[in-house]
Amino acid sequence: MGIVVQKFGGTSVGSLERIENAARRVIQALNRGDRVIVVSSAMAGDTDRLIELARKITEFPNEREMDMLLATGEQRAISLFAMTLRKLGYPAVSLCGWQVPIITDDVHTKARIKRIGTQRLKNLLNEGYVPVVAGFQGITEDWEITTLGRGGSDTTAVALAAAVGADCEIYTDVTGVFTADPRVVPNAKKIPYVSYEEMLELASLGAKVMQIRSVEFAAKYGVRIHVRSSFEEEEGTWIVPEDEIMEKVAVRGITVDTKEARITVVRVPDQPGIAAKLFKALGEAHIVVDMIVQNVSHEGFTDMSFTVSKNDAPKAEEIVRKVATEIGASEVVRDDRVAKVSIVGLGMRSSYGTAAKMFEVLSKNGINIMAISTSEIKISCLIDEKYAELAVRSLHEAFVEDGEEIKVENEG
Ligand code: ADP
Ligand code: ASP
Ligand code: MG
Repeated sequence: MGIVVQKFGGTSVGSLERIENAARRVIQALNRGDRVIVVSSAMAGDTDRLIELARKITEFPNEREMDMLLATGEQRAISLFAMTLRKLGYPAVSLCGWQVPIITDDVHTKARIKRIGTQRLKNLLNEGYVPVVAGFQGITEDWEITTLGRGGSDTTAVALAAAVGADCEIYTDVTGVFTADPRVVPNAKKIPYVSYEEMLELASLGAKVMQIRSVEFAAKYGVRIHVRSSFEEEEGTWIVPEDEIMEKVAVRGITVDTKEARITVVRVPDQPGIAAKLFKALGEAHIVVDMIVQNVSHEGFTDMSFTVSKNDAPKAEEIVRKVATEIGASEVVRDDRVAKVSIVGLGMRSSYGTAAKMFEVLSKNGINIMAISTSEIKISCLIDEKYAELAVRSLHEAFVEDGEEIKVENEG
């Protein structure tokens, strides 16, 4: 008799009818003989509404109070979920993060899980109860309520599965992980198996179907994840170790991220130490820099561009303006209307021609590339935001729909 963690996202618990539908998935597993731990998100739209309320009071709400507020979304959902299971004849007990307990660090609004106490969960399971755990929230060693960042219920689910040695099912509003966001690319195909590494890149580069940290957890503890729909019965996507992936295609998926902004420092003196000065100041302010481009220098001057998250962009701009004055740069320009399109696939390690084909597709569609970054299994291009959908669709057509033209060298 196995244990399975079933996580239901916001849409899957978006109304009382949907909670009942989710509860029936739990009952199916119980009837198969599994023991189930439920993790629930807040009902669809609740977290957004709470954030909106706070922003009506102040632009930068206190982060401790924000966590206190946001944790209520999941608390509402788990009590309704447990009531529904009880009504259907299955004893259930809802638990907030602190009641499990799920212990986190003290970084409010983006806390990390440090450890999980499993005794209470195990007792409940042994007594025949279904624990219904609030996703997204935890508690610090000092009894402060924390949340795990947007989409954090995925991480609660995977961490619980790792802690109790369970399988993990992520129930969402699409039937699995697709070759591109199915809401943007209608022809996107469901991926049957994806490796942790590929999923990590896809999640980091804009596929919000799984929170990045949940995939990191899964990879670290070897949790197998099944991403599937709470509305349809069909098999979803398995996120598994790389050695279980039979088919290593060059391009597994295509993503787009419109959450970054570009900052350009114009006419920077091309001297040693300038870049260090600029990026040190950003690092000290805890701002993560993503893509960096430095142009060829002309008459001892050069332009330097980089991207940061849009949330950090106003602060980054302010810092860069100060440094720019000190180093004698002529201007700082911020552009929030950029998008990063990426292609991701394990087979890229041993294939050639992928980058060339990506650039060709973009150029054929008249899309200018502002910056490029690569890793072993991904290529990202920064483009004008207005071409984001066109870029994803045409890259999908070229790499997925028109088949694998890219050669993968024989590894054997
Ligand atoms: P939940 O509320 O269940 O956690 P999310 O909204 O966080 O669901 O994630 C599911 C959404 O992720 C889908 O509705 C889909 O639009 C989006 N998405 C983006 N990229 C992908 C992808 N490659 N495959 C599947 N879904 C994707
Ligand atoms: N309710 C939280 C959010 O909307 C967490 C989650 O749904 O995973 O981000
Ligand atoms: Mg989510």
